[in-house]
Amino acid sequence: MLDKIRLLTPGPTPLPERVRLALAKDMLHHRKNEFAAILRRVLERLRLLFGTQGPVLPLSCSGTGAMTAAVYSLFQPGEKVLVAEAGKFGRRWEQIAASRGLGVVRLSAPWGRAVQAADVATALATDPAIAGVLVQLSETSTGVLHPVREMAEITRARDMLLVVDGISAVGLSPCPMDEWGIDCLLTGSQKGLLLPPGLALLALSPRAWKKTKNVTPGCYYFNPVKEKACLEKGQTLFTSSVNLIVGLDESLSILLENGLDAVYRKQWALTMLTRSGVSAMGLDLFAPENFAWGITSALLPEGVDGNLVLRVAAEKYSVIMAGGQDHLKGRIVRIGHMGWVDWADVTAGLYALNCGIVEAGGCCGARDFLEQALAAWRAALAVKPGEPIPLTHS
Ligand SMILES: *Cc1c(COP(=O)(O)O)cnc(C)c1O
Repeated sequence: MLDKIRLLTPGPTPLPERVRLALAKDMLHHRKNEFAAILRRVLERLRLLFGTQGPVLPLSCSGTGAMTAAVYSLFQPGEKVLVAEAGKFGRRWEQIAASRGLGVVRLSAPWGRAVQAADVATALATDPAIAGVLVQLSETSTGVLHPVREMAEITRARDMLLVVDGISAVGLSPCPMDEWGIDCLLTGSQKGLLLPPGLALLALSPRAWKKTKNVTPGCYYFNPVKEKACLEKGQTLFTSSVNLIVGLDESLSILLENGLDAVYRKQWALTMLTRSGVSAMGLDLFAPENFAWGITSALLPEGVDGNLVLRVAAEKYSVIMAGGQDHLKGRIVRIGHMGWVDWADVTAGLYALNCGIVEAGGCCGARDFLEQALAAWRAALAVKPGEPIPLTHS
């Protein structure tokens, strides 16, 4: 294989060279000063990324570990939570909550649509026993972005916890935790953070800290109160993911040197590039309205085998994309535009997708779909700094 492999998947993602070199550094001891200085610097800058005054806890696990940590430290068995779900990762909240012995009220939207904040308000008003709301900011299985800011207004007014899985959103689209009033925000290293898998990050609001102090921790490993006390001494509770934290030090430098505003603008423009290209090639966008900024899902034409499309893209064009999950297997293609991915990678992805669809016997739309996509990208980049980028709608 002579071509460069392009990973356009919703995690893991390609890595910048600066981060790869940082990851290759020799081991440091996790309880000595040299590492403590790096950890302190990382923790300080994570607050900027999360938009919070409070501490952000690094946990050695994948993103699901942080979801588990949140549920097991914020709620007692017997408490009731509302899961606002519209896809596979929403279902995961339900499963984790059930494993903790919580009562689960499910509020669903069809896959490809977002749960609306007004429906959350109605559900909470009908059941005063609900103690918290669990939701994904970006539902990666469908490419939907949930109106978390509006949901936070509702949960704040009712003095209950809003727990947000930001795994495919943090570092990709704005989610200022304190400003929006989120009580728990978590993410994983392998989506928006320019890192390999294996590290998760979790932050709590003052209200959530108060709650967790009254909850008997549900497991030994995840203990936010003890973790926080350790971080204050420049250490983690158990052995730190030393290399990933050294890598995070570098990836935070990349993100913050450019400024988060520039990072989000880049992501917005990539989203416009992808969505325009998909539409111009004659495909329906699977998330037509509330869409995420790190992933775009496209519905394949009837009769086109999605597995074949992905195989052609991978084998002939070296572009790796994701298919649908569960009942969407073979029906949608999910194009990740997160991590160290730029306009040229996405353009290659659109071209490979189109070739795959043609080879699988599907229709092809406009011949100039790449020009249309790139025009949309340029237009999106032309939004002037200081001008707000629209949050959900194009
Ligand atoms: C990837 C992802 C997860 C799962 O994360 P793991 O790191 O695989 O445990 C959960 N939620 C969302 C929204 C994701 O994108």
